[in-house]
Parts: sequence; structure tokens; C-alpha cells
Amino acid sequence: MRPARYVWGGFGGALIAFLVVALACWPLFGATAALLLFVALLGALFFYHLRSLKKLVLWTREPIGTPLPQAFGVWDYVFADLSRHARRSLNQRDRLAQALARFREATSAMPSGVILLSAENFIEWINPAAELHFGLDGERDTGKPITNLVRQPDFVAYLTGERTAEPLTCRLARHAGMVLSIQIVPFGEEQSMVLSRDVTQFEKLETMRRDFVANVSHELKTPLTVVSGFLETLDEMLDELPPEEARRYLRLATEQAGRMQHLVEDLLELAALETSAAASYDETVEMGPLLDTIMNEALALSAGRHRITLELDGPVGLRGSRKELHSALLNLVSNAVRYTPEGGEVRLRWNVAAGGGARFAVTDTGLGIEPHHLPRLTERFYRVDRGRSRESGGTGLGLAIVKHALSRHQASLQIESTPAVGSTFSAVFPAERVARPVL
Ligand code: ADP
Repeated sequence: MRPARYVWGGFGGALIAFLVVALACWPLFGATAALLLFVALLGALFFYHLRSLKKLVLWTREPIGTPLPQAFGVWDYVFADLSRHARRSLNQRDRLAQALARFREATSAMPSGVILLSAENFIEWINPAAELHFGLDGERDTGKPITNLVRQPDFVAYLTGERTAEPLTCRLARHAGMVLSIQIVPFGEEQSMVLSRDVTQFEKLETMRRDFVANVSHELKTPLTVVSGFLETLDEMLDELPPEEARRYLRLATEQAGRMQHLVEDLLELAALETSAAASYDETVEMGPLLDTIMNEALALSAGRHRITLELDGPVGLRGSRKELHSALLNLVSNAVRYTPEGGEVRLRWNVAAGGGARFAVTDTGLGIEPHHLPRLTERFYRVDRGRSRESGGTGLGLAIVKHALSRHQASLQIESTPAVGSTFSAVFPAERVARPVL
């Protein structure tokens, strides 16, 4: 209402003023002169409006940054109003541009890939993660059909086929080692968004988990088959079997049950090491008594078949868990005894290591290990010689337990070995694990 009133008010006011001036001139200069004056004033008003209109047209071509044209009356009001509108829309545009820039920044920083596709599957926008996942280049490939650039049949079928909430897991030819989880999300008017996630690590873990379950089942199945076989035989033929033979079967079944028990114990120990919190620095383990215990256990395991020696020359105490240290060091010693033929030698040494740390080394004159096996020895169920490991009561988990127990003490396992000569397995502890002051 206000603008209309203002316009008509301004216009009406001018007309009345012109009329008053013309009527005042009438008695002085006559009717013709008064009419001419009125027409001339109207013409001037018309000319003023035309000029202001021209200014308005010029100003509206570039309203932002151009100063407001000077005008009077109604035009002043019009220009002020337009300028206010222009400022408001400029602010709005700035805010939208900022929001868009922030959205792009956020999606660019996202580890997940995002590709915006038109209804015809042409690339509209792509973030850096998707560029990496699909081997695309945002600048080069925007506006091109994605199916021309990513031709992998399972991806094309997933994109063009019936939409499903189930993501597609695939390995793209461009990144042989990378596994992607891809999902298509529809949005807007028939547009869609391709979301991709690098699940290589997850897939690796999944494969490891599957292998682990398969290995455990296999390891348990063999002795279990033997035990149930003996029990069946005893059940069917107990009356006919000579007592000596029956006792032999029972002994063999007990041996296999012991193997299973040993395996389950190792599995539980490994699980505990993997799931519980790392060894604290609070407990101080006296290394002399611990290594004496381990020495006695080694002598019992060897049963006089090897020459075993212990040299104690290292720090008196270590900060950590006695149970875990005992398990780790005993595993190294028991391996040395089990993989060293009769008559061989096993040397246990507890020394100071470089930088104020400590080292427990077990050297044997046993079978030794080919270099290509060394990096995999601490994997669960990895064995150089499956038969020999089983024969000597191994579960294939010993060194995995050692690795975990040591890493919980920030210690490392070092292995040096020469086939047919022997091996040295060393546990190296950092200075911060050495207990000071002396016990
Ligand atoms: P296992 O229960 O089979 O001994 P480990 O994890 O303790 O399992 O060891 C993995 C493999 O490393 C063993 O199967 C064996 O082949 C090899 N190994 C470990 N210690 C020695 C050693 N002192 N000498 C020779 N081979 C060894």
C-alpha cells in the first residue's frame, strides 16, 4: 500500500502544483499561455521520469557495486527499495556459495568416495576419494558417462540393474589390491550418488578370520578323529584285544587328547593376549628366578638329550607381567629343544642390550630355518615342517604367542637362522621396561 500511495501521492501532488501555477498565470497572461505553461510543466515531468527510467535501466544491468543513481521524489524511493533487494539477494548468494564451498570441502575430506550422476549416468561431480578409488580425474571426466570410464562388468551391472540396498563388493581392475564396497543412492529427480569405501583391510581381516577358523577346526579334527577311532575300536573289540594292545590304544588316545588340550590352552592364551589391556609397568619381575624356572622346564623337556646352559648377565628385573614373560621366553626355549636333534646344544643368555635395554637370546644347534620362512614364522599356524612340529607336540601358535606377549612389553623378536647349523631367537626389551633401581 505504501509504495502505491507514495507514487500516486507524488504524481498527484505534482499535477495539483502545475494546475495551481497555470491557474495563477491565467489572469495575468491569458488562457493560452496558462495552458502552454501547464503542458510545458507536464512535458518537463515526463522528461524527468524518462531520464530516471533510463538511469534505472542502466543501474539494473549492474546493481552490485554501482552507486545508487541520484533522483528525487518517487524515484528516490524506487532506487532505495531496489538497492535494498539487491543487497539482500547478494548476501543470500554469498551464504549459498559459502554453504556449497563448505559442503565441497567436507565431501573432499571424506575418506569415502562420492560421485554425483545425472539421470543418464553422466558424472556431475566427484570427490578426491572417488577419483582415487575409480582411477578418475574430476576435471577431465566430469560430463562423461561413468560406464565409459569404469567398465568393470559387475559394476556396470550393479549401476544399471535393479536398485538394491545391498552394497557391491568388488576389486577394480585399476587397483588390483584394493577392495571397494560400492553403494548407489538415488536422490533428486532420477539422479544418483555412487558411494565407495575402501574395505581392503576389512576383507583381509575377514580372510584371516576364515583361515583361522578353518585352521583351528583342522587342528582339532585330526586328533579328535584318532581319539574317536581308538575308542570305537576298544568299544567293539575290548574282549578280543590282548590287554597290552588295549593299553597301547588308550595311551595313544590320551596323547591325542593331550594335544587337543594343549591347542585349546594356546588358543585361550592367544585370545587373552589379544583382548586384554597391555602389560602394566607396575609389576616387577625378578629375572633370575624366572629364568631358573625356565631352565628347569627346558631340562625336563629335553630329558637329557641336549646340553643346556644358562648365562645370567642382564638386569635383575623387568617391569611387566610375569605370566606373559614366562610364556614368551619358555616358548622360545621349548622350540629350541624340540627342533634340535639329540646331542645338540641350547644356550640361554640374559644380557644388557644397547641403549640400556635387555636381551634374552636362545641359541641352538638345531635344524635351522630357510630365510624365506622367517618373516612368516609368527603367523598363527605357520610351520616350516608340519609333520615335525606335530611330532614334537607343537601347535603352530607358539611364536604367535611370543610376538603378542613381547609386543605388550614394547619388546621385539629377532630371529637369525642358518639351515642345518642352528638358530638364535632373541627377545629385546627397551630401556623403559628395565626395572630400576635394582631389586
Ligand atoms: P610350533 O608349535 O609348530 O613349534 P611355533 O609358532 O612355535 O609353532 O613355531 C613356528 C615354526 O617355526 C615351527 O613349526 C618350526 O618350523 C619353526 N621353528 C621355531 N623355532 C625353531 C627353532 N628353534 N629351530 C628351527 N625351527 C624353529
